[in-house]
Formats: sequence, C-alpha cells, structure tokens
Amino acid sequence: MTLEVVLATHNQHKVEEFQKILGAAMPSLRILAYDGPEPVEDGTSFAENALIKARVAAAHTGLIALADDSGICVDVMGGAPGIFSARWAGSHGDARANLRLLLDQLADIREENRSASFHCSIALVVPAGLPQRLGESVVEGVWPGHVASVESGTNGFGYDPIFVPAGSDVSSAELSPEEKNAVSHRARAFEKLIPVLSAL
Ligand code: IMP
Repeated sequence: MTLEVVLATHNQHKVEEFQKILGAAMPSLRILAYDGPEPVEDGTSFAENALIKARVAAAHTGLIALADDSGICVDVMGGAPGIFSARWAGSHGDARANLRLLLDQLADIREENRSASFHCSIALVVPAGLPQRLGESVVEGVWPGHVASVESGTNGFGYDPIFVPAGSDVSSAELSPEEKNAVSHRARAFEKLIPVLSAL
C-alpha cells in the first residue's frame, strides 16, 4: 500500500530530493508537495523549527507530514549562526553575504579553533485520527568539520565553499553532489528517519 507523506516546503527541488532518497529505501512512499500556510519559525532549535513546520502541514492537510531545518554551528561562536544560518547577514537571505560575514567574524581565529558542524533536523508528525499512532518524532544528523579561512569550490550552496568536513582536505563545495549526499548532515538525518518511517 502506498504511504503518502506531505513535505512542508514550497521548494520542489527538496520534494524531489526527499522522494529520491527515502523512496529508494521505501518504494511504497510518495512524498507530496505542500501547498498551505507557512508558519512563523519562532523555535529556538533546528528540531523545534522543523516540528513547527511539520505540525502546520499535518494540521492543514490531515496527512502525515515531514519538515526539515538545517544550518551551520560554529563552536567558538557558541553554536551560531545555527538557526539563523539562512539570514545571518540579514533577512534578504543572501548566501554570499552570509558566508562573507562568517569569514570576517572568524578572521582572527586560528584553524585549530574553527571547529564547526552542519546540522539537519527532520520532524515527522502524524495527525490524530490516523491509524499510525506515532505522534511526533524528530531525528538529527550532524556533519562535523571546520570553517576554512578562504572559499574554495563551486558545488553545493550556502556555506559549502568554507566548510571542510572532518577527515577531508577539501571544502564541501569541492565534493561532488554524490560524495556530499553520502555523508552530509542531511544524509545522516535521512539514515535515522528511514526506520521511523518504515515502522509506520
Ligand atoms: P533552512 O532552509 O531553514 O534549513 O536553512 C538552511 C540554511 O543553512 C541555508 O540557507 C544555508 O545557509 C545553511 N545550510 C544548510 N545546509 C547546508 C548545506 O548542506 N550546505 C551549505 N549550507 C547549508
């Protein structure tokens, strides 16, 4: 039987990514695009923000809902930019400005103190009344590394040109999409999500 799950995003690219990765592990899964109200993301963690989005999508559609939230956390900055990653340099969400601001802020910090990690939380919400009685669940994937002092690479998006994964000599923007997708924070969260979805 087909399991239909709505993904709380208006980004079709994200719907396709979820369908590709989760569908490979669960052929009966169909990820549907969400078309409804967008909540204010006023949580204080990736998990809270993912839950806020999934709850609204589940309530609006009556379907099982998924939502993700992600960002980069720099240890010497107490975990910032964190949930503010997408708008670190301002509400315009300019990815280049975000990256340059972070590099400027870390300019005087030596390489051994530039540890950072990408985080991805994925929330799953089952609305009341469905036979699957899971309620709510959140999984998190973490990809450790450090912030380089100069940009390199052209793949990926966001902070990829300045993020060097642990055990790697190159930035995540120098990895191929396949290499990144095998080990990233998102891949690690998906790995934990599959058993949760399979148990529904
Ligand atoms: P979200 O769309 O609210 O999850 O915000 C994610 C933000 O975190 C993006 O705008 C990027 O700035 C950053 N981010 C999350 N994942 C990645 C990644 O894989 N590479 C680079 N930047 C990322």
